[in-house]
Amino acid sequence: MNESGSRKTAVVTGASAGIGAATVHRLVADGFRVVAGARRLERVRAVAEPVGAAALALDVTDPASIAAFLAGREEIQGPALHLLVNNAGGALGLDPVATADEERWQTMFETNVLGTLRMTRELLPALLASEDGHVVNVGSIAGFETYPGGAGYTAAKHALRALTRTLRLELLGRPVRVTEIAPGLVETEFSLVRFAGDAERAGKVYAGMTPLTAADVADAIAWAATRPSHVDVDEIVIRPRDQAAATLVHRRSGD
Ligand code: NAP
Repeated sequence: MNESGSRKTAVVTGASAGIGAATVHRLVADGFRVVAGARRLERVRAVAEPVGAAALALDVTDPASIAAFLAGREEIQGPALHLLVNNAGGALGLDPVATADEERWQTMFETNVLGTLRMTRELLPALLASEDGHVVNVGSIAGFETYPGGAGYTAAKHALRALTRTLRLELLGRPVRVTEIAPGLVETEFSLVRFAGDAERAGKVYAGMTPLTAADVADAIAWAATRPSHVDVDEIVIRPRDQAAATLVHRRSGD
């Protein structure tokens, strides 16, 4: 609730699956009115509508799609908007630098970095008008670690981290908080997307260890978002107990 007792509105991008979907559910449970966006409209509707959230098509790589998304709901155009969760993103492939696929790099930068830039730039006026705004960017441990084959994704998440840290500096003195959530391994559709639908390869990423769930990350996002306004949780790094670093995972044999 805001000071006048009305519900705060949140926008969640990449809300048709995984962390975004769990965040929609968690924020609704915590009393937010939520507007959810993703490219697969049917899927985002199936996530949002049963819990009373709004669902709209959104491709963060496409300025026309963003404009249509923003025009689609009045409550995100003004001071009712308090929270933007920039979650849309992901990785494509595991190509070494020597054989890097430029198109995949471009898509990773377009989604994780430029998508976040566009959504933030467009919604910042409304967040500022709320007098109590908050931008939560879903980064990754890939934002400060690297691993073989991960250069496209880690470079994009390093860039997202730089964007987030810069925004925090630029908004000092203004009523908008800035947070980065940086998870390690989370079992979602992330690896399925990374490996172009190869379920066997995706499954191996989580074999023999206990990954985070999307709800674990949504919990961290919601915690940061529900601190008092004067508290800016700058960043949260959240990993499975079984993962000490991007390249150091404890796997039990036989699982
Ligand atoms: P996921 O299950 O694959 O979900 C990704 C979401 O992003 C989907 O809802 C997808 O929906 C959306 N998306 C992709 N491209 C989009 C675009 N151009 N415009 C709008 N939405 C788009 O993966 P996830 O694990 O929940 O990933 C969410 C975020 O967490 C990503 O930023 C990812 O980098 C980050 N992360 C994940 C992990 C992990 O291990 N899973 C770890 C650290 C960070 P549509 O396809 O319907 O558009």
